[in-house]
Amino acid sequence: MEHYDAIVVGAGIAGCSVAYFLKEKGLKVLVVDRAGVATAGGSSAAGAFVSPKIGKGSSLQKLTNEAFKFAKDFYKENFPEHFKQTGVVRIPKDEDDAKKFFEYEKYNSSSYQWVEQNSLKEIGIKNSKDSFLFNEAGVCDAPKMCRAMLDGIEYVQYNVKSLNYKNKMWSIGEYRAKRLILATGYENRFIDMRYMGIKGTWGSRGDYETKLNLKVSMHKSISISANIDGIVKIGATHAKEAHACLNCGVDPLRELFAKASTMIDTSDFKPKEIYCGMRSGSKDYFPLVGSVIDVSFMLDKYPKLVRGQKIKDEPKKIDNLYVLNGLGGRGFVFAPLMGKLLADNIVKGKEIDSRVNPDRLFLKWCRKSPELER
Ligand SMILES: Cc1cc2nc3c(=O)[nH]c(=O)nc-3n(C[C@H](O)[C@H](O)[C@H](O)COP(=O)(O)OP(=O)(O)OC[C@H]3O[C@@H](n4cnc5c(N)ncnc54)[C@H](O)[C@@H]3O)c2cc1C
Repeated sequence: MEHYDAIVVGAGIAGCSVAYFLKEKGLKVLVVDRAGVATAGGSSAAGAFVSPKIGKGSSLQKLTNEAFKFAKDFYKENFPEHFKQTGVVRIPKDEDDAKKFFEYEKYNSSSYQWVEQNSLKEIGIKNSKDSFLFNEAGVCDAPKMCRAMLDGIEYVQYNVKSLNYKNKMWSIGEYRAKRLILATGYENRFIDMRYMGIKGTWGSRGDYETKLNLKVSMHKSISISANIDGIVKIGATHAKEAHACLNCGVDPLRELFAKASTMIDTSDFKPKEIYCGMRSGSKDYFPLVGSVIDVSFMLDKYPKLVRGQKIKDEPKKIDNLYVLNGLGGRGFVFAPLMGKLLADNIVKGKEIDSRVNPDRLFLKWCRKSPELER
């Protein structure tokens, strides 16, 4: 049996990020994935735009923008070859949205500038309105970024079918480790984590070969990348809980392509590759980072939780089991900071930020979930 300090299940951007920071802190880490590094799941389909969130200063916007700041600096410093700081233009969807941009402006915590409709036209963006340009934002090459983050970390392709915990060690096939981190995206077959409310949202992306001189990336309900090495990526996530495989194909791309054609000149676009996948979100859209509650123990010990009982003690956790998930439509924005938070918690015992600690969802789930008998 091979022994590790930690095994990470899932080699999407979440798993790769936490593995990176655990290794940086000196742990011997193994990453396993049944499909390959960012070759299935959300991280293979993602356009991997890294841009801030606009809005009226909600706590999710604040957290997203803290993560954005961390991510763009992290990628630029450590993996500049896989992160292109193209800038991202955030274009209002319609007249109403355009008016809201004036309210949003004071909540833009990242560097930005207004770009007028006419200037956008000059750089090849049609049918726009006055927009924000976030010039520090950009686009990752998702698989290359994930592979680079795993440099020097052991990786094996392995389909995890069951988890075992014995004598304070987790084992997966022939691999053993003191700690186990689940970064499996929208799928969760092993442990009762229903309280986190992990759900999938399906999306697709097309990569097109083109000579279009498009220097900036943009977002207006769909995302379109700048032309990087002769390729423009067009993508969006939309259908909640759709079956991942049934929907793969060219049909959803037709819609995306039609929309993109109203924004840029797509006349010489040649489809090169189609990707599709599920991204996973939590019940309240905040990431899920930290240890996992022992649900059956808690429901046995506190049967009145389902009727709203409050408890003073911290909920009992499953030994040395952690989760990094729920990164929603911004996995490449959230993952580096969330991976670091989790690694700091695992190695240094640093408390997890309460905004992302999955514990926040437990009591409400007990009280409200239709799956529990009352
Ligand atoms: C079309 C599309 C466009 C997107 N665009 C962007 C974007 O522009 N910017 C952005 O920041 N985010 C974007 N996202 C969201 C982003 O892709 C996700 O938030 C992110 O990829 C989630 O990463 P993850 O590592 O949590 O999950 P995943 O990438 O889904 O990784 C989970 C991994 O776990 C593995 N796994 C699952 N079960 C097992 C098992 N039993 N054994 C072994 N391995 C297992 C899977 O094979 C998979 O590789 C987009 C998503 C989609 C679908």
